[in-house]
Amino acid sequence: MSDFKGLIRDRIDQLEDLAEASRAATATVELDQTRQGRLSRMDALQGQAMAKDAERRRGEQLGRLRAALARLERGEFGECLECGEMIAEARLRADPGTTLCVTCASEAEKR
Ligand SMILES: [Zn+2]
Repeated sequence: MSDFKGLIRDRIDQLEDLAEASRAATATVELDQTRQGRLSRMDALQGQAMAKDAERRRGEQLGRLRAALARLERGEFGECLECGEMIAEARLRADPGTTLCVTCASEAEKR
């Protein structure tokens, strides 16, 4: 489990870099608006809405990863929050922010 710390930190760094790049892109769109016609302005607004949506999802993902890092530091990382069993390593590698084992996750989906 020891190398998960690096894995989670890398993902957090990646997401923060993406957020930075996206903020820079959004700022550029705002500066350009004065020179744009009505249609391209609508395109720009739509683009901004999509960027906001992506930003929200990134924020959620960051929150899950930071929580995973905190669990790692408390020695609770990899335990299913529902049943307390260890979550399969392959599952954690695919998504280190996951908090449920396969069984509990599929139960949660049925609800
Ligand atoms: Zn479980």
